[in-house]
Amino acid sequence: MSEYCFAPASPASVPVSGSAARFPLRRIFCIGRNYADHAREMGATVDRGRPVFFCKPADAVVVDGADPAYPPATANLQHEVEMTVALQDGGRDIPAEAAEALVFGYGVGLDLTRRDLQAQAKAGGLPWDTAKAFDQSAPLSPLRPVADCGHPRRARLTLAVGGALRQDADIAAMIWSVPEIIAALSTLFELRAGDLIFTGTPAGVGPLRRGDRFEAELHGIARLAGRIA
Ligand code: MN
Repeated sequence: MSEYCFAPASPASVPVSGSAARFPLRRIFCIGRNYADHAREMGATVDRGRPVFFCKPADAVVVDGADPAYPPATANLQHEVEMTVALQDGGRDIPAEAAEALVFGYGVGLDLTRRDLQAQAKAGGLPWDTAKAFDQSAPLSPLRPVADCGHPRRARLTLAVGGALRQDADIAAMIWSVPEIIAALSTLFELRAGDLIFTGTPAGVGPLRRGDRFEAELHGIARLAGRIA
């Protein structure tokens, strides 16, 4: 037993559908520009040259039906609905053909973004951390285990705000597939059990205001509803 200077925080964790056991969260990786229609709406070029990755801290998650707080220091909080992929195993230089065996389960989440700070960062060639990795920036649904839902190739991904549909796409439109994302990440990081990946957002991103109710769904797999506090 190590002796600590003060009590360490409990690890962040995510509920699992149909189970009392929770998924212990290690790291959160996110891919950018993974749907061509969203890349275009952001004024980015669409190509498969090299995937864009960024991270959020594990303790940015919002789970168990809690409502994410509107963050400070922004006037343009935006939603990005995304499929999430949770890993039960890891490694380096994983071939795409071997990647699905590492997946524990799938879910849906919001990659909440301070769009104004992201625009400033892009313009200045600066890091995205304050735009993407802030407190409560990652509301997550419970995870649906692969044993229960298999590996979805097609599934409708939607986000409604105040009952109005804002984002509506199929995960089949992703530029980089889940196995390709895992393979590419594993050339940059040694992946580990407990890592969770946000797989990118389709077109229709937009603002969220205090009090807005949202409902995110990966149809047939996972659902996340809440309110911006
Ligand atoms: Mn995103």
